[in-house]
Amino acid sequence: MRRFVAKGLSASTCRAAQSAPGRVSLAPARWSRMADSKAPSLAARRIHGLASTATSFPTTHEKIQKVEDTPFFVDNQFVKSNTTEFIDLHDPATNNLVTRVPQNTDAELKAAVESAEKAFPAWRATSVMHRQQIMFKFVALIRENWDRLAASITLEQGKTFEDAKGDVLRGLQVAEAACSAPEMLKGEVLEVAKDMETRSYKEPLGVVAAICPFNFPAMIPLWSIPIATVTGNCLILKPSERDPGAAMILAELCQKAGFPDGVVNMVHGAHRTVNFILDEPAIKAISFVGGNKAGEYIFSRGSANGKRVQANLGAKNHAAVLPDCNKNHFINSIVGAAFGAAGQRCMALSTLVMVGETKDWLPEVAERAKSLKVDGGFEKGADLGPVISAHSKERIESIIASAEQEGATILLDGRGYKPANYPNGNWIGPTIITNVTPDMRCYREEIFGPVLVCLNVDSLEESIDLINKNEYGNGVAIFTRSGPTAETFRRNIEAGQVGINVPIPVPLPMFSFTGNKKSIAGGGASTFYGRPGVSFYTQQKTVTAMWSSGDAISKKADVAMPTHS
Ligand code: NAD
Repeated sequence: MRRFVAKGLSASTCRAAQSAPGRVSLAPARWSRMADSKAPSLAARRIHGLASTATSFPTTHEKIQKVEDTPFFVDNQFVKSNTTEFIDLHDPATNNLVTRVPQNTDAELKAAVESAEKAFPAWRATSVMHRQQIMFKFVALIRENWDRLAASITLEQGKTFEDAKGDVLRGLQVAEAACSAPEMLKGEVLEVAKDMETRSYKEPLGVVAAICPFNFPAMIPLWSIPIATVTGNCLILKPSERDPGAAMILAELCQKAGFPDGVVNMVHGAHRTVNFILDEPAIKAISFVGGNKAGEYIFSRGSANGKRVQANLGAKNHAAVLPDCNKNHFINSIVGAAFGAAGQRCMALSTLVMVGETKDWLPEVAERAKSLKVDGGFEKGADLGPVISAHSKERIESIIASAEQEGATILLDGRGYKPANYPNGNWIGPTIITNVTPDMRCYREEIFGPVLVCLNVDSLEESIDLINKNEYGNGVAIFTRSGPTAETFRRNIEAGQVGINVPIPVPLPMFSFTGNKKSIAGGGASTFYGRPGVSFYTQQKTVTAMWSSGDAISKKADVAMPTHS
């Protein structure tokens, strides 16, 4: 029997499928076109909501008996896709099938665009105060559905339930900050000449799109949904095809919060859906978060098509540890930030730069890492769960093997680990690789798993030099008790988000997510959330108007340029 928080649910939103684990069943594209032409209308394929509710949702990794397909979301309705192409989604802790995610057909993708286009004129005409009221409701609903969202993340993505709650929280905070839209959308006004004023306005762009990664299934959709909509745009969001469940719950909450039909739509799929978004003329802007391969492609093709694109990419985050730091705080911080979420955070602290004698602390770091409990995310006391897929596990293990071959030392080896109750999951225990040099594959590539690579240097200056030579620049941390040392590091380091005795310095939404270098496309000109997020989703308009005080009686035309007197 499958356990639920409340009674009587038939599992997630899914139907049985025959394909092998992790495989995409790709029928020829013409099949879906044929299917489109004969398809029942969207209205006929509407389904009445999701299987889970705020008080009733999966709380274990038990096999789902009646697997259902994930619907897409258009016109404020959940719709069953008419596609013949599905992507199987497996619980990373068991590799049991959870749902099938459709590769939406071209007609379905087009329907989402048409829905958003239709909604835009009325939505942009609503007052910001009206949109703020909807955002207040959306925030309250996310709070009400917090555990349900987290449970969906644990089931589909694998992270522990507690950590999944944090995933939701960081997105919720963006929605809360978006409630300050009346303040953030205020323009400026200045009298620039006698009787002449210039005013600036921030106007919505129209239909915009977001393409999301697998590792934060709630937070990253929530980097876009609140800000895109509160600024007056209509959004088409593509969650990761590997874990769209949390985004689908957010779609339901958007509907309940009172967003009009078409303001928020959600579509599914892999590359084909991305290419559709990139080439669809009605879409004016794209927010992307994910790896460099996809992100660089999306940034260049989207930009070449005349769209605004913001793209947060991969990372290799370093921690410099100085001998004068609080050793216990450092060890707890590095162990939490390297191995938490199985290292699948873009701000995971995956690279340790040990200055001087701090390299002697490594055995203690390894001891504490060893004590972490690797288990199913719903299990009490689990510190980290599995990695997302069998393919990802294989890739991570091959990087660990390459380090061995290149002469590094595997101080702690998590390969081969399996929790007793979950023999079929994608498990890797905490792994520590020491004596690493910058030329090794394990240093050059983003690993995105529970693996900490350690390098040794002799001084603060050397640590700064080494870190700055790395092509990524998302986050960095320094551990020291010295203000001047921290200040020198802060001033000279090139990473975009710096933690001083803080392992994962992700800024809250009153600031912005400020990666640097190869970790953000376009030189970091456009960052997510905060005031820059509002700028991304709005077009500036300046209006200069003259209302001559003497106009009513003036008979004389002004022929000279204004003199500002
Ligand atoms: P990914 O790049 O594989 O996928 C992200 C999205 O792009 C998905 O929706 C996917 O469908 C699509 N996609 C993937 N490959 C594509 C291709 N070749 N063409 C078109 N579309 C494609 O990323 P992921 O594995 O889901 O997420 C992990 C990556 O995301 C890591 O590199 C991590 O550092 C990065 N990330 C960065 C940040 C940040 O803010 N910098 C935040 C979270 C994750």
